Amino acid sequence: MLNLHTRKGIEGSNPSLSAILFWENGAPLAQLDRASDYESEGQRFKSSRARHSLRPMEDADERFMREALILADQAAALAEVPVGAVAVHEGTIVGCGSNRRETDRDPFAHAEMRALAEAARELGRWRLSGVSLFVTLEPCAMCVGAMILARIDRVVYGTPSPKAGALGGLTDLNALPHNHRLEVSAGVLETECAERLTRFFQGLRAPEV
Ligand SMILES: [Zn+2]
Repeated sequence: MLNLHTRKGIEGSNPSLSAILFWENGAPLAQLDRASDYESEGQRFKSSRARHSLRPMEDADERFMREALILADQAAALAEVPVGAVAVHEGTIVGCGSNRRETDRDPFAHAEMRALAEAARELGRWRLSGVSLFVTLEPCAMCVGAMILARIDRVVYGTPSPKAGALGGLTDLNALPHNHRLEVSAGVLETECAERLTRFFQGLRAPEV
């Protein structure tokens, strides 16, 4: 598997490399039960609309989201629900995660959890103040809970998840009176993020030839 960890930041990364690494062959056929609770209806991603204050697209946000998309493609290559995440500190990626729940047989192996864990190891602290997390799909309750507990500053996601999202999709944990509040941005590269999920779930439903 390609090593996409760009610990030196993406300033010097080669855009053509990212293009090469994108996985363009469509989602593999896999068992329907692999979809489970990440999101089981690809159609839902098609015409989704961000619910949070939609900031003007910032170049940096899009660049980091593109790194998360590469990790989502890594998940898809393993027949995992294609979700990817990067944790960023002071403009540098300090944690990468792709969904590996099936591969690792680990209910906690969501992209965000893996990116946060790696960021904590990299920074040498559990309190991840100053960290922003970029993830292709609105995070679930477990992952939003972890972000709040880790005290990250900001979460940026691509496409909403009406069935499992915990930043307004299914519920909004960030609206509860925790003593830490996340800054949330939604809809960054939403079309690209949603397209991967739609393609994945369409692949699950495709008849075997
Ligand atoms: Zn999650």
